[in-house]
Amino acid sequence: MSNQIETRCVRGGYTPKNGEPRQIPIYQSTTFRYETSEEMGKLFDLEASGYFYTRLQNPTNDLVAAKITEMEGGAFGMLTSSGQAANFFAVFNICESGDHFLASSSIYGGTYNLFGYTLAKMGIECTFYDNDISDEEMEKLFRPNTKCVFGETISNPTVRVYDIERFAKIAHNHGVPLIVDNTFATPVKCRPIEWGADIVTHSTTKYMDGHASGVGGAIIDSGNFDWAAHADKFPGLTTPDESYHGLVYTEKFGKGAFITKATSQLMRDFGAIQSPQNAYYLNIGLESLHVRMDRHCENALKVAKFLEESDKVAWIQYPDLASDPDNTMAKKYLPGGSCGVMCFGVKGGREACLKFMSDLKLVSIVTHVADAQTCLLHPASHTHRQMSEEELLAAGVKPDLIRLSIGLENADDIIEDIKKGLDNVR
Ligand SMILES: *Cc1c(COP(=O)(O)O)cnc(C)c1O
Repeated sequence: MSNQIETRCVRGGYTPKNGEPRQIPIYQSTTFRYETSEEMGKLFDLEASGYFYTRLQNPTNDLVAAKITEMEGGAFGMLTSSGQAANFFAVFNICESGDHFLASSSIYGGTYNLFGYTLAKMGIECTFYDNDISDEEMEKLFRPNTKCVFGETISNPTVRVYDIERFAKIAHNHGVPLIVDNTFATPVKCRPIEWGADIVTHSTTKYMDGHASGVGGAIIDSGNFDWAAHADKFPGLTTPDESYHGLVYTEKFGKGAFITKATSQLMRDFGAIQSPQNAYYLNIGLESLHVRMDRHCENALKVAKFLEESDKVAWIQYPDLASDPDNTMAKKYLPGGSCGVMCFGVKGGREACLKFMSDLKLVSIVTHVADAQTCLLHPASHTHRQMSEEELLAAGVKPDLIRLSIGLENADDIIEDIKKGLDNVR
């Protein structure tokens, strides 16, 4: 396959043979038939590769996972039912009860809850660090039981840009992998593996699907991290799995160890599989991802420049603006533009935000983000509405923060709608 990302978006993962369908077939089947009991038995022992039950693997999903793997420049990949499932599996595949890991505090709220609260109940402790932490301070956070470092290429909703290369070096100095959630950038705008990330995760629900039609996730393994070289840290990969007659993943599957374990153990036991029908929709989204991302970025920069000039706007964060504190980092990691999401504050706080949102016609108020349709969310009125001003600030969510996701409509139409909204604020 060509090295160019555009060609990978359209053609990756699946090449029909003579007379086969142009589109990927949807294998809408829970199970797969074998002629002999012996063949089936080998699949259950992971002695042969093949399909037997869609909770573990399905051919449609695997074609789409193969495409995303090619797009990211990885070695192996899998789809999951959601982005949440992808991040859970990516961490839980190498962290057990009693382990510890490090995650950037500039991450999606759902991931923050998963890492800070739910994993804690499973005996896995997460320490959150600030993206601006110095190398020396970061080094001090590592413990003997630290198993991975996690960050988001562009954080949701604060659109901070993550210094992938720096954090990859620090993680590797401590013998652990770097996991990067690349949802907002997509492999069209940034390929974290090229900067040293070992595992890449996605909420495919966002730009990859791109049309608000299906929730999904993906995990891509670069194949670069040498688990066996740090065998004592990763016993789940390097010591016998009794649920498969004592098989050792690193010995049997080499570079495929991480994804094989996540599929044959975590997917088997937790069952967070994506439906083949959703994988089919996802693939349609991927075919135009490169075209859409460019337009999302182009439109978003126009809107961001408009907001930056408006006297109704208190502040704005969008990494492609020259004035943004992360602009230098954006130029390094996202030279072709970042994404369509930005956040800004309306002067006058919570009340002013309500006035701004009161009469929007084109910009939809939804929980979603990274969609073909322009949409926004005001955390203080929506996702975080139970919180007081003090609680909001403590959670790092400014009461006047509006998360704006710029779609593919005409940029002037979007700006006009936003302008009318801002004119309502007096
Ligand atoms: C939305 C999102 C998730 C969670 O994904 P779901 O598909 O909603 O489960 C994880 N990470 C980021 C960066 C997201 O934006």
